[in-house]
Amino acid sequence: MPDQHPGEVFIVSGPSGAGKGTLVQALMQRMPDLWLSISATTRAPRPGEKEGVHYVFLAAEEFECIRAEDGFLEWAEVHGNRYGTLRSAVEQRTDAGQTVILEIDPQGAEQVKRTMPSATLVFIAPPSFAELRRRLEKRGSETPEQIERRLHRAVAELKIADTYDYVIINDDVTRATEELACIVRSHAQQRITDVKD
Ligand code: 5GP
Repeated sequence: MPDQHPGEVFIVSGPSGAGKGTLVQALMQRMPDLWLSISATTRAPRPGEKEGVHYVFLAAEEFECIRAEDGFLEWAEVHGNRYGTLRSAVEQRTDAGQTVILEIDPQGAEQVKRTMPSATLVFIAPPSFAELRRRLEKRGSETPEQIERRLHRAVAELKIADTYDYVIINDDVTRATEELACIVRSHAQQRITDVKD
């Protein structure tokens, strides 16, 4: 089916620990007109995480029901938990012409790109593997075994970076956020030019 939604979709993806969440939060502060999709997950909330703000926290059966009804634009199992983008919320925003940001893992990014070929893929890469390990350890929210699993997966995820539309190396949050904002702005500018033409 053709991809007919008027609002643009930007997918911010990359390995866990690359700093996608921090960059996306900083982007939202700079560009509050963007709409950030709140994912559903079966993972338990971390301290300080709020229902409906960081995630929609669901029991495994609730997640399964939505999945069975095709309610996810994409979904994936990441590090033993399920995560999904709620289709109706995203489609409502794109139908209204709003620019949507999805912060999701590379498996989900691939699924969205298949169903919405006009979506723009932005890969957030850590400056180095050692830095990725340091960030995951500093975050303190994963056990040593979980950190090893995430690092193992990151090796495979880093290899797909060159299939994305853009790659941002997150060695400096301010600079990386500016790059992300530039990408979004330049697409908006291009759309205005296309409409005029
Ligand atoms: P965390 O548990 O650390 O919040 O997230 C783990 C991973 O799941 C991160 O890479 C994050 O980007 C990804 N993630 C969050 N929401 C979604 C989603 O809706 N779909 C997919 N595919 N991945 C997600």
